[in-house]
Amino acid sequence: MTKNKSSRPPIITIMGHIDHGKTTLLDALRQTSIAQKESGGITQHIGAYQLEHKKRKLTFIDTPGHAAFAAMRSRGVKVTDLVVLVIDAVESVKPQTKECLDHINNAKAPFLIALNKIDLPNASPDIVKKDLADAGVLVEGYGGDIVCVEISAKTKKGLDQLLEMILLLADMQQIKANPKKPFEAVVIESSLDQRKGPLATIIVKNNTLKIGDNIQAGSITGKVKALFDHNNQLIKKAIPGQPVQVLGFKKVPAVGTIVTDSELPWSSEGAGHSEQSKEKSDLNKKSDLKLKIILKADVTGTLEAITQNLGDEVIIISQGIGNITESDILLAQSTKAQIIAFRVEPTSAAAKLADIESIFIQKYSLIHDLLEDIQQQILKLLEPTIDEEILGEAKIIAQFTVKGTPIAGCQVTSGKLTKGNTIHLIRNKNQLSDSKIKSIHQEKEILAQAKKGQECGIAFNTDINFMPKDKIIAYKKI
Ligand code: GDP
Repeated sequence: MTKNKSSRPPIITIMGHIDHGKTTLLDALRQTSIAQKESGGITQHIGAYQLEHKKRKLTFIDTPGHAAFAAMRSRGVKVTDLVVLVIDAVESVKPQTKECLDHINNAKAPFLIALNKIDLPNASPDIVKKDLADAGVLVEGYGGDIVCVEISAKTKKGLDQLLEMILLLADMQQIKANPKKPFEAVVIESSLDQRKGPLATIIVKNNTLKIGDNIQAGSITGKVKALFDHNNQLIKKAIPGQPVQVLGFKKVPAVGTIVTDSELPWSSEGAGHSEQSKEKSDLNKKSDLKLKIILKADVTGTLEAITQNLGDEVIIISQGIGNITESDILLAQSTKAQIIAFRVEPTSAAAKLADIESIFIQKYSLIHDLLEDIQQQILKLLEPTIDEEILGEAKIIAQFTVKGTPIAGCQVTSGKLTKGNTIHLIRNKNQLSDSKIKSIHQEKEILAQAKKGQECGIAFNTDINFMPKDKIIAYKKI
């Protein structure tokens, strides 16, 4: 395949079950890297490195495992072009292998299998391939086309072939950087250095970053003071596909934040300006009316009993036996799924992460309670006001400000509105936001209540951005 001028090196993440050899593989690949030998620099861990194979560069994210991958996905950012799933040829498919597959499937990331430890006498590639088929992954020769390369990270056998296949998969995707697009990169690692201040490793996706450029990551701004490559060499510019450590941010940006080269009116968490965030919102929109869950249970029997009784409205993003892990939390964050724990608990790290990310874990010990709750939630999805009693409705006919407070000029169309009522703000049948009625006025008079037919001015507890023609529904939970 011809190399397009703007094609950029593929960005690869290595995933797999613990002890299956991810770190050893990353080290082995790094050691064989010509790029590194040539530079003569001292290797430093910046979260990613580049190597060269047959005169082509490849970028590896060297935080093995899926935590970093999921953290990025949770922010709707796609950094990785493809995933290498490492499986121990003796141990075969393990729970974390399946978790990785969940992440891969959710991200719709192209991937290939590296069957590692092939040097061991009891390595059984055929058993692994069969186990993979049972897990829904059909490799070449087993009725599918997923590439599977037999390697030994220890003896370095098969590594050339692995790189070859990675490049082939990358070519099939036609990975390109668009030089016409503005500079865009993604934070893959960040820290606060005692001496240097905030440090961030970014991978460049489009265009070039140079010393002196203005940068912005979410709400954090800065100016590039220095750029270091993975060999700790000071460089003048970073090009597409290149991982680079940036000195110059005013604060430490979060992993997964998109970096631009000027102050833009959006943040990475805000309006979807990249293909990735569009992809994320599309994904969320499609399954809006379905209840997405991540289900963990104590034993296979109950897990099956639960899944068999869930209706079509429920999408199981991931299911498994055992405690809730950090990976589950990150998956819940990226897919907006709920976590259902049946007679299992979160690990302490997962509980901490759930707290930080505000992910609620619903715990049950009776199947009946679990199924009833899910049914209730499905009803609520289909009919959001099912558990609410409507107290009154009003239409907004004007919008004005009194002493800096936005006031909605309303006409009550049914029931009554009372100070302190919780309300939904509705626009074109869509529920926009919720607030409370702070005060009701009529001319200069302050009212406790406004009834059907009355016109009044209403102030709210929070800034809800209402407009004329919007509707207000006052309600109480049943
Ligand atoms: P990780 O947890 O997936 O990062 O796994 P490691 O890279 O730490 O490897 C776990 C263990 O497997 C270590 O003791 C490695 O030396 C060993 N190991 C990794 N790759 C190979 C291999 O290809 N062959 C053999 N025999 N051992 C390996």
